[in-house]
Amino acid sequence: MDYEERELILELFPGTPPDLLPLGEMLYWQDEEGRVHIEERGVEGLHLVLEPVGEAPRAPQVCEACRRHLSGSALGFYRHAVGKDPRHLRYLVLCRDTARCASHAEPGRLREILLRGIERRDPGEL
Ligand SMILES: [Zn+2]
Repeated sequence: MDYEERELILELFPGTPPDLLPLGEMLYWQDEEGRVHIEERGVEGLHLVLEPVGEAPRAPQVCEACRRHLSGSALGFYRHAVGKDPRHLRYLVLCRDTARCASHAEPGRLREILLRGIERRDPGEL
């Protein structure tokens, strides 16, 4: 994808919904406290933090980021709030080894996960 095109769109139309922008550089990492971060570089507010919720699933499952089938011990449960409502939580299964997962995950897939956690609706609309 063309980063310059993306920057130009953002400059001209700063309110463009993120899903209409060309895909930017996706950052995906784990911090020292075990939280997983997904961020699209260059767009304010496009940063999702997933907290680990412990207990890994026992049976092999598919990681939602890299979509590989892995054994339960390689995976963990994570959750993030959807929008600004802390009671609206979404759970997903991800590799515990984020660095390795990142090398297999498609940037477009990471963005999908990221956008699901970002509230784009005006509260007055509900
Ligand atoms: Zn993975």
